[in-house]
Amino acid sequence: MDQLIPLARSGGGYLPGEGRHDRAQGPLRKLDIRLPAAGHPAEYTLRAGDQRVGLNAWLGRRIVLRHTGEIHCIECGRATRKSFGQGHCYPCFSSLAHCDLCMMRPETCHYFQGSCRDPAWGERHCFRPHTVYLANASGLKVGITRGTNMPTRWLDQGAIQALPILDVETRQQSGFVETLFKAQVSDRTNWRAMLKGEVEPLDLVAERDRLLASLEPGLGELRRRFGHDAIQAVDAAAPLSIDYPVLEWPRKIVSFNFDKTPRIEGTLMGLKGQYLILDTGVVNLRKFAGYQVAVSAEAA
Ligand SMILES: [Zn+2]
Repeated sequence: MDQLIPLARSGGGYLPGEGRHDRAQGPLRKLDIRLPAAGHPAEYTLRAGDQRVGLNAWLGRRIVLRHTGEIHCIECGRATRKSFGQGHCYPCFSSLAHCDLCMMRPETCHYFQGSCRDPAWGERHCFRPHTVYLANASGLKVGITRGTNMPTRWLDQGAIQALPILDVETRQQSGFVETLFKAQVSDRTNWRAMLKGEVEPLDLVAERDRLLASLEPGLGELRRRFGHDAIQAVDAAAPLSIDYPVLEWPRKIVSFNFDKTPRIEGTLMGLKGQYLILDTGVVNLRKFAGYQVAVSAEAA
């Protein structure tokens, strides 16, 4: 359980009976984003320790996020002066399997060399079906994800469209497939473009058909190596479209960082990917996982 510390009563601070005044305090976790009912924007929940705040209801309100200076490893809870790999202490970052470089570059999986940091973990997480997808967060991109991590992965990236295209037997094999695609498609999101909301919808089905046709020789080679059933086309007729709750897009992107600006304040104008969009700047909450933060919104 996180310790609850009363907020300083400065700058319009909370007084009992002052009306509705939402707040939470604890080490941040990445935003919990849910796919809404059809026709509704994505639903955002801020998580600080074991406290949760529905952020869609905070849109248009003035909010304050104050970092206390403490960072707690999201894995073991120990205090750390610096965060490694989105919220880990250095001992966890340098020893846990899910912090290894092969998570970012699955084609470099070294399980078969006997050097996996945690073979049992690898068997549970990497030797499982993965999906290669196309998404549109700031233009066309390719990515891979565990089958169970859709659509979370796309929501985290701020994708406005996503289309699963290939089911692959293991994480490493999906990395080989992604490497083929990377010759023709980016695997990155331009977060500034994503946050400006200037992203044009794409015909992902046409892009898929074009890419699968042109990459057929490489895919055939991988099937000969890993078995015909190791890589299978996903039968998806249309991409998933995702709307985000945004009142107004920022014209210029100013990016906040709790290390330099412990107190971030502004009117909440939108939520996209793992970002809060304030009228004063944007902040990527995933980057600050483990940071002890007190969050509050002015009464509506
Ligand atoms: Zn740790």
